[in-house]
Amino acid sequence: MKPTEATTLNFSRAAKLLGISDRLTKRLITPKREVKVECTIAMDDGSPGTFVGYRVQHDNARGPMKGGIRFHHEVDHDEVNALASLMTWKTAVVDLPYGGAKGGVTCDPASMSDAELQRLTRAFTEGIHDIVGPDSDIPAPDMGTNARTMAWIADEYAKFHGWQPGVVTGKPIELGGSYGRESATGRGLLYALEAYVEDVGQQVGDLTYAVQGYGNVGSWAARLIAERGGTIVAVSDVNGAVRNRAGLHLGLLDEHLKVTGTVAGFAGGEAFDKETILAESCDVLVPAALGGVIHRDNASDVRAKVVLEGANHPTEPEADAIFEAKGIVALPDIFANAGGVTVSYFEWVQNRQHFRWEEDRVNTELRRVMRKAYADLRAVQRKHACSFRTAAFVLAIERVAQATELRGVG
Ligand code: GLU
Repeated sequence: MKPTEATTLNFSRAAKLLGISDRLTKRLITPKREVKVECTIAMDDGSPGTFVGYRVQHDNARGPMKGGIRFHHEVDHDEVNALASLMTWKTAVVDLPYGGAKGGVTCDPASMSDAELQRLTRAFTEGIHDIVGPDSDIPAPDMGTNARTMAWIADEYAKFHGWQPGVVTGKPIELGGSYGRESATGRGLLYALEAYVEDVGQQVGDLTYAVQGYGNVGSWAARLIAERGGTIVAVSDVNGAVRNRAGLHLGLLDEHLKVTGTVAGFAGGEAFDKETILAESCDVLVPAALGGVIHRDNASDVRAKVVLEGANHPTEPEADAIFEAKGIVALPDIFANAGGVTVSYFEWVQNRQHFRWEEDRVNTELRRVMRKAYADLRAVQRKHACSFRTAAFVLAIERVAQATELRGVG
């Protein structure tokens, strides 16, 4: 199923529960603006390299549009479109004064040099600088991009509009980034899970975890969960997977990762087929890699009781139906992984105030936002007797629809 099909299905189910009009439904589904740009750069060997970049601005009823920029070989128009709409619903679930957008460039960053990546980032920024800005659309890191990419975007944007740090978030601290932004998505996952497990009378530290994807999101979530006493029994990345029933030693794993760049080959556990990590025996499965990884053909293999979605749209709607039948609870992406955009919001607020928060304050505020979102979500879930995913869409659509109506639907 295409990502937009899946997102529209989730949207429609919730819109029906809310009983919103067809006219408003159409308006909320249709992106405001979709931009596709050609980015031609000189590769290191002197040959020209042409890449395609996208920025989709989905909705701005609740405020400036917000969302990351992805560099990945699978980036395409449909995926960016779906991810842009998910950002609208995500910012609404955690009640940030933002709309949603997403960008992406189809490229393979692992095979490119730093100089090529910088040239590509600048070419892409040149293509979209007129439609982004601190009051209109604020990019951030996503898969394949990081603080350094954001620094290049801010610098390139400054050539056209002057230095405005609030044009992107997830910047290096030295350039107006926020303490705690790098770990924020992983930390938000911890706080989302904490709120849920407390609600059902459990503790984060009593559970076992398998993490698919040991990049920024997955590794931070694992580290912070392990600090709370949780047992990380398996992790995987694009190169391989490793498991240890007694719990992986994450400090040693990080050392191995620093040297080899992968979790594969880590001596503190047993290697296994990375394709089977979703079927690992554990209490909580954390998909923190690509979208669409849990589908109708493998959802029934999941043995976890809870799926904590670190990735965007990791679970297909057909897999959701299987989870519901099996009593598996999915804490959906638009709630669970909202910690990243929440601390992006804090960074943007700090930029606008020319003021820096201490990391403790960032983390305390993040926890407050995630717990409030969980309480709101739980109330909707009870009211409609539905899954957390449907509840999250209901909550988000209700908020965006209200803002849209208040601003006046033409
Ligand atoms: N790329 C992240 C996400 O998907 C963060 C977006 C942001 O900080 O604007 O939520």
